Amino acid sequence: MINKITKATLIIVSFLIIFSTNSVTAQNNTTKKPKNIIFLIGDGMGTAQVYSALVAKKDKLNMARCKYVGFHKTYSANKFITDSAAGATAFSTGQKTNNGYLAIDTNKMFLPTILEMACNKGLSTGLVVTCAVTHATPAAFIAHVDNRDNYEEIAKWFLKTDITVFLGGGRNHFEKRKDSLNLSDSLRARNYQVVYKPSEMSRITSGKIAGLFYPEHPPKMADGRGDLLGQETAEAIRILSQNKKGFFMMIEGSQIDWGGHNNDADYIVKETVDFDDVVGQVLDFAEKDGNTLVVITADHETGGFAITGGDIKNGTVEGKFSLKDHTAVMVPVFAFGPGAEEFIGIMQNTDIFFKFKSLLFGN
Ligand code: MG
Ligand code: ZN
Repeated sequence: MINKITKATLIIVSFLIIFSTNSVTAQNNTTKKPKNIIFLIGDGMGTAQVYSALVAKKDKLNMARCKYVGFHKTYSANKFITDSAAGATAFSTGQKTNNGYLAIDTNKMFLPTILEMACNKGLSTGLVVTCAVTHATPAAFIAHVDNRDNYEEIAKWFLKTDITVFLGGGRNHFEKRKDSLNLSDSLRARNYQVVYKPSEMSRITSGKIAGLFYPEHPPKMADGRGDLLGQETAEAIRILSQNKKGFFMMIEGSQIDWGGHNNDADYIVKETVDFDDVVGQVLDFAEKDGNTLVVITADHETGGFAITGGDIKNGTVEGKFSLKDHTAVMVPVFAFGPGAEEFIGIMQNTDIFFKFKSLLFGN
C-alpha cells in the first residue's frame, strides 16, 4: 500500500516535472522577436543628463515609459574613458576598440556592423542625427577607418553600403572635398534622392534618401534647430517601415555631449529634452506597431555633470561640472517592445550589439 502510494506520487511528480519543463521551453520558444529595431543614442547622456530633462519636463519624461532599465560599462579597448568612436563601435560591431577607431578592431581589421548586416539581409536601414552624418557616432555604423576626424574618407563609405536613409548635416564632406569629387552626384547615380531641406522629404514616397541639411553640423537647439530631429525621425520611419522584412535605425541626440564639453547646463537640458521628445515619438510608433524594439542609451557621460539644485514644479535645473571631457561612469539603458526584457542589469556596451544581432537574425 505504502509502496503503491509512493509509486503513484513519483509518477505524478515526474509528470509535473515534464509538464513544467515543457511549459518553460514553450515559453522561451514563443518569446516575441522584433521585426524592427530603433536604437537611440544620447551622446554624453549620463543619469544626471537624463534627470535634468526629467526635471525640465516637470516629471513627464518619455524615457520613463520604458519598463526595462539597465546600465552598461563604457570603457574602450585602450582607455578607461572612451570616446564616441570606440563607444559607438562597441554598439555597432560588438567589439571594444581603441579610441578614435570606427568599426575596426585594435589591429585595424574590418568589423562588420549591425547596420551592414541588416542591409545584407534585406532590411531597410537608417541613420538620423543632429550633427554631420560623418561624425563619429553615425560613422561607426557605416565607415571603417582608424581616424574619426577623417570626414572626407568617412563620407565615401556611405557609397559602399546600401543604407536606405541618412539624415543630418555634413554636406561639405560630400560636395566640397579636397579630392574635388562630388559624392552627392555619386549618390544620385545610386538612386538616392539627395535633399538639402527637411521640408523636401515630405514629397518623397519611397526609395532612398540622403538628407544633407547643413554644410557642417546643424545648430544647437538654443540657436534655432527646432524640430529637426523629430522631422528626420518621422520621415525615416515613414520610409523604413514600408519594408516587410523590417528595419534597423539609429537616431542620435548628438549635441548633449557638446553641452557637457562646454560645461553648459542649459545646452544639456535643451538637447536632452529635444532627444526625449523624439523618444516619445518613437515609442508612440512602437506601441502602435507592436513589432519594434526600442533601445535608448548613451555612449558615455560628458562633463561629470551633477545636479546641485532645481525645482520640479517650475522645471528649473542647476548643475555643476567636474571637467570638460568624458567621464568613466556606467550609463543607463532603457528598453521597450519585444526583446526589451533582455536589456536589464549591468552589461557591457558590446552586449547591446549581440542582443540586437540575436533578436534580429536569431544567432
Ligand atoms: Mg556623437
Ligand atoms: Zn564628447
